[in-house]
Amino acid sequence: DGPVVIIGAGHGGYQVAASLRQAGFSAAICLINDEAHLPYQRPPLSKAYIKGTAGPESLMFRPGKFYQDQSIELVAGRAVSIDRAGRKVLLASGRPLPYGHLVLATGARNRLLDLPNANLPDVKYLRILDDSEALRQIMPSKTRVVVIGAGFIGLEFAATARIKGLEVDVLELAPRVMARAVTAEVSEYFQARHREAGIRIHLGVQATAIEAEDGKVTGVSLSDGRHLPADLVVVGVGVLPNIELAAEAGLPVAAGIIVDEYLSTADPDISAIGDCALFNSPRFGGSQRLESVQNATDHARCLAARLTGDRKAYDSHPWFWSDQGEDKLQIAGLTTGYDRVVLRGDPTRKAFSAFCYKGDNLLGIESINRAGDHMFGRRLFGLDRSITPEHAADESFDLKGALA
Ligand code: FAD
Repeated sequence: DGPVVIIGAGHGGYQVAASLRQAGFSAAICLINDEAHLPYQRPPLSKAYIKGTAGPESLMFRPGKFYQDQSIELVAGRAVSIDRAGRKVLLASGRPLPYGHLVLATGARNRLLDLPNANLPDVKYLRILDDSEALRQIMPSKTRVVVIGAGFIGLEFAATARIKGLEVDVLELAPRVMARAVTAEVSEYFQARHREAGIRIHLGVQATAIEAEDGKVTGVSLSDGRHLPADLVVVGVGVLPNIELAAEAGLPVAAGIIVDEYLSTADPDISAIGDCALFNSPRFGGSQRLESVQNATDHARCLAARLTGDRKAYDSHPWFWSDQGEDKLQIAGLTTGYDRVVLRGDPTRKAFSAFCYKGDNLLGIESINRAGDHMFGRRLFGLDRSITPEHAADESFDLKGALA
């Protein structure tokens, strides 16, 4: 009982507050927000928002009135420490916030590039609205961008920059793009599509220095001795979970804040959700830390249910999406550990799905411009069913029949 204090007003933090009220939770809710905006959606920052068509208000989950109407106190500021014995959070302003239950929804921050000149103004990252806004402002005056890192965010940005007329080079240390997240088939498809759009993709290379003159970026030096001219560098080399508050409060952390299958930390009065949480997953075995909207919002709903008396282990099926140029990638399930990939549809027609199996066990489906396959996958996993690799590859096999 007592107030619920939530640190971090991103996807997870916002959703816990909203779901608690929806479930009839009547005590005070404080949502600590260290960004100077109402809680907003992050995915458009590297997609629609950066194209410059809509204003910041298009990103907000809810208008300010929602928080007043729902008695959710938006507390501007940063949490700097947790006093577990006294059950309170201390804000940077010095204000203490007492809690009955504390939710850590601190997300993740960009991994910074450790290179000479990496702190110049024309070296940008993309995590928060202010980053996206800054890129929107400077892009019209730039002609050549080097994107460091060919993960989802780097490639989404690269595609948009190209559409906006910039020369674009993408550097990737791995031998293929999005190598940690998708199958080789899907990497190859996207490599070809980005190259067709005029983006130069350099695989198996690393940036060794950012070159500058009079404080202005002039290019990037590569590990293979080449030099790429640039007046803008965008870095997308992954994120680090924000675990420090938890660690300093004596809570166990590893590659995330360690929580059990109920999303509880070692302290029963403190839970962690979303990008910062390393959660025990009986379904997938062992612990997982996922970076997706689905994971943050479903964690939030599971926790809000527990805090209002409906205690269940977290057991949602992961899904994800990425928009790159004209292509939409959607992933249902978790494809880690697959040993066989079966294609349904035709990459040359720009619409196919990669069904990933371990033995005969379907782990996940990566769909490109095949929303029907993606929704099928989510429904199939929801029913705890599978289809054989032969059926997956056979376009005449009726997927809907497998859901009946
Ligand atoms: P966040 O949304 O990061 O929120 C954490 C909040 O906590 C932040 O506002 C942070 O500033 C704040 N905070 C941290 N420490 C403190 C503190 N001490 N005091 C107060 N506040 C604090 N996922 C998808 O599924 N599909 C996509 O297409 C997709 N696109 C993305 C594009 C971009 C550019 C980015 C950056 C991410 C994208 N993601 C996407 C990932 C998705 O946005 C994240 O997984 C999701 O935001 C995680 O939610 P969260 O609440 O855990 O963390």
